[in-house]
Amino acid sequence: MMAAEVRQPAPSLLERLPPVRGRYRACVAISELAWFRVGGPAEIVFRPADRDDLADFLRRKPKDVPALAIGVGSNLLVRDGGIAGVVVRLGRGISEVTLKDDGLHVGAGALDGNVALTAQQLRLGGLEFLSGIPGTIGGGLRMNAGAYGTEFKDVLLRAEAVDGAGRVHSVPAADLRMTYRHCGAPADWIFTGCVLRAEKGDPTAIAARTREIREKREATQPVRARTGGSTFKNPPGNSAWKLIEGIGGRGLARGGARVSEQHCNFLINEGGATADDIEGLGNDLVEHVRGATGITLEWEIQRIGALAGRGPDCSSLGAGAAS
Ligand SMILES: Cc1cc2nc3c(=O)[nH]c(=O)nc-3n(C[C@H](O)[C@H](O)[C@H](O)COP(=O)(O)OP(=O)(O)OC[C@H]3O[C@@H](n4cnc5c(N)ncnc54)[C@H](O)[C@@H]3O)c2cc1C
Repeated sequence: MMAAEVRQPAPSLLERLPPVRGRYRACVAISELAWFRVGGPAEIVFRPADRDDLADFLRRKPKDVPALAIGVGSNLLVRDGGIAGVVVRLGRGISEVTLKDDGLHVGAGALDGNVALTAQQLRLGGLEFLSGIPGTIGGGLRMNAGAYGTEFKDVLLRAEAVDGAGRVHSVPAADLRMTYRHCGAPADWIFTGCVLRAEKGDPTAIAARTREIREKREATQPVRARTGGSTFKNPPGNSAWKLIEGIGGRGLARGGARVSEQHCNFLINEGGATADDIEGLGNDLVEHVRGATGITLEWEIQRIGALAGRGPDCSSLGAGAAS
């Protein structure tokens, strides 16, 4: 008589990942990490201890396992099904801000606001715009973020990244072919740091410019709301908010999502929104603007992950707390 075949359960993703010095967490409630406060779980979140830990991980992880970097999720919409694979979050080990002869060396995990503050303390001018962007340096490089007339590309000298196979790259700014809210680096590059132009400036002027940026932001943007920043890129020669205003989009709602009354290129989670409400509202705006003007708005917010019911199965573990 044949023995009954005993089926072994497939190893969990966690069991397939290489040992690291940093930290893995399974089934993390990513909604607690991103500004919109919506979205399904991340299957694994990896916080590398430092750059070498990240490069080792990328070299040794199974090839079929995707790895996606996120910063503080201030330009992200994570869909309701969550994110399969590994989400990489750069933390304290990759967030130094150091002045050297060739410029200000900054880790990609540093917050833009902290870099602006350090630059101000060091009396360096030209980086005040960073005080107006609530993301990390890594997210800023990927988005070529900018505010009040300056973008990352205007102050960037070199960038450092690790690719999906764990190879380290250090490239001059021109190689990234940055344009308005776009970076030409390969999609699998995870930025680990950069060198920013550092020029001595007048401390009074730096402080005044920083204050001016903060006040303008407070007056014009819903900076304390659950939002993802500017939803759409400005089309050439036009403004996304004017196009949305033109179709009567200010205040439009879908489920728990609403177009901000204060700045109509911002979408807001009013409390009970799903990612689907927010994405659906954004897509409604795209359709209406196209119908009225022939212009197709392009999403600036990065929409990632799977639709509800199609993402990683975290039911057996329960979503872990974010960190
Ligand atoms: C209230 C508010 C105001 C804002 N104002 C501005 C503004 O004035 N100007 C502006 O440009 N933006 C603005 N934003 C948008 C946002 O702050 C920027 O795009 C910021 O640079 C995103 O950084 P992040 O760390 O939050 O990245 P995330 O939102 O976490 O990620 C954004 C993208 O970058 C990628 N990414 C993140 N880290 C890395 C990394 N280390 N390597 C490779 N890719 C990475 C992610 O995969 C994703 O594609 C605003 C957002 C909010 C909520």
